[in-house]
Amino acid sequence: MTSKKERTFVAVKPDGIQRNLIGEIIKRFENRGLKLVGIKMVVPTDEQIEAHYLVNPDFKTIVGAKTIESYKKKGENPPTEDPETQGQFVLDTLKKYMASGPIVAMCWEGVHAVEIVRKVVGGTEPRSSDVGTIRGDYVIDSYQLADTDQRAVRNLIHASGDKGEAEKEIELWFSKSELIDYRLVQEQMLYDVNLDGILE
Ligand code: ATP
Ligand code: MG
Repeated sequence: MTSKKERTFVAVKPDGIQRNLIGEIIKRFENRGLKLVGIKMVVPTDEQIEAHYLVNPDFKTIVGAKTIESYKKKGENPPTEDPETQGQFVLDTLKKYMASGPIVAMCWEGVHAVEIVRKVVGGTEPRSSDVGTIRGDYVIDSYQLADTDQRAVRNLIHASGDKGEAEKEIELWFSKSELIDYRLVQEQMLYDVNLDGILE
């Protein structure tokens, strides 16, 4: 069933906050028609960051393989051929990055929310994120520079990768009472079948 109440987890990372992009990022999702149902500012702990990324137990091998593939696609040599080693490096650097300051944790709701938010956010590596996406419009980092400097890729924002990840991440960051069910007037325009409440 297609749900109009699909939810996804989004975080403005510490660099997004330092670059005064909270409002701009929220605006992108609001403009698209999504509904904000939870929001708070937190300074994450190392434990929270590890739990967050390891909601997918294969995080290290997936992120490692994705990085290696991206190097090869550009005709460049990856720092290692072993996805697990690359993934462990990413997880370690992510702890430093994500705990360096406050983040803004958010839950957004709407039809196909997970998929649409990922599109609005853009690809992981800002060097190759599409122009028109948040990462493609506001930041310029690359795997190569991040790996040379032994740090995480700074890409402003996190968004759940799929519906399963979204459910687990929302549960990790928000209690039930922090997520609010309410109606938005614009939802009639987005979802109402007959649009029969407009003309007088
Ligand atoms: P996110 O999960 O943050 O929304 P994503 O799903 O696009 O991003 P993942 O593959 O899940 O990307 O990687 C998580 C995060 O780890 C990235 O957003 C980035 O900050 C960092 N990262 C990924 N690969 C590397 C790498 N090779 N070197 C440094 N940092 C990396
Ligand atoms: Mg991810």
